[in-house]
Amino acid sequence: MIVAIDGPSGAGKSSVAKACAKQLGFSCLDTGAMYRALAWLALERGVSLDDDAALGKLACTCTITFGHVTGDPVPRSVSIDGREVTDDIRTARIDKAVSPVSAAPSVRKAMLEQQRRIGLNGDYVVEGRDIGTAVFPDAELKVFLTASPEERAHRRVRQNADRGVGSIDYPEVLADIVRRDECDSSRATNPLRPADDAIHIDSTDRYIEDIIAQIVEMARHTQEVLR
Ligand code: C5P
Repeated sequence: MIVAIDGPSGAGKSSVAKACAKQLGFSCLDTGAMYRALAWLALERGVSLDDDAALGKLACTCTITFGHVTGDPVPRSVSIDGREVTDDIRTARIDKAVSPVSAAPSVRKAMLEQQRRIGLNGDYVVEGRDIGTAVFPDAELKVFLTASPEERAHRRVRQNADRGVGSIDYPEVLADIVRRDECDSSRATNPLRPADDAIHIDSTDRYIEDIIAQIVEMARHTQEVLR
């Protein structure tokens, strides 16, 4: 079974997806981390961020792996071509580079294929921007998670402060969130938008625990119906 969680930056997708996966006993796939890792590799290799063909080649030939601790379905680390980049992909430099990289049509094609291959391995909570619309259009449960840009910026600042990575300057973080919303929603290939059959959840004034409980309940109900 696939639970697809899509939505804009900072809506709480990662925390919600990880907690839901743990409670359901599913694996968890953070597709944003894959685009971020590719953006990191493009900068490392000096690949131009507007060269669709070169980015596509990189996307087809690189190997992205997630590191697990035994028994935990939620990965602790991400590596690309053998380099561990877990923290390096959360910097402001990558926040900026990931938009053009993820807008490249050949990159999206390569990533979609990799993500589908991973998702075929069992039950997954998959989070991203185009999971319910393009990667897994037949996902058994689709959620579109949103929150106001201001709330998302506050959350991202707190998260960056906790991690000790990324900007903690609220105006800068808000501007980046608004810019990425615009890039993700307006790109030609698989833009950010809710699937027609997605359940919309606005997390602005809600506790994350409530949202996790709501999604877990919907997923269990769906499992029952499918049985
Ligand atoms: O989720 P996160 O903010 O880490 O994603 C980083 C970037 O990766 C997004 O801003 C978006 O441009 C891109 N992305 C995407 N499609 C996905 C997941 C992420 O285009 N399925």
